[in-house]
Amino acid sequence: MFTRIKHFIDTFLLTELLKGMAVTGRYLFGRKFTVQYPDEKTPQSFRFRGLHAQRRYPNGEERCIACKLCEAVCPAMAIKIESEQRTDGTRRTTVYDIDLTKCIFCGFCEEACPVDAIVETRIFEYHGEKRGDLYYTKDMLLAVGDKYEAQIAEDRAQDAKYR
Ligand code: SF4
Ligand code: SF4
Repeated sequence: MFTRIKHFIDTFLLTELLKGMAVTGRYLFGRKFTVQYPDEKTPQSFRFRGLHAQRRYPNGEERCIACKLCEAVCPAMAIKIESEQRTDGTRRTTVYDIDLTKCIFCGFCEEACPVDAIVETRIFEYHGEKRGDLYYTKDMLLAVGDKYEAQIAEDRAQDAKYR
């Protein structure tokens, strides 16, 4: 009986509404947590797993030795590799594609790579406008690596410190 009376009084006095308004009022004048993206950005970890890149050594040689470990470990089967042996006896990829529409950004490929060739960068602001735009070929991946090598190298060095 008492509960029903209390419920009636609460309804009559709009108690719940006032409690809700009090919460709104508290946040209205409190510190704001909303980030005004894209003008403002949140901090990123050096282990952020964004767009993939293929790296080169400082002499311009591709790091990738076509061992196919990344292809084998990829749970989404997003990586396709074909390779051949060069005249100097080294092995390099002729095809290295990643279908980013399949990729789940787990990072297994970069963990598996013995020569730090395939990495995931901090880049997340990319998009595709038509079918196939997010199918990244070897040339596209190398271009990402060439453009962001300084940041990639810095992030990998940071990562190594904590292993
Ligand atoms: S991040 Fe994961 S899913 Fe994406 S290509 Fe690498 S191993 Fe495959
Ligand atoms: S990217 Fe790394 S793991 Fe993948 S084939 Fe090349 S060397 Fe091997």
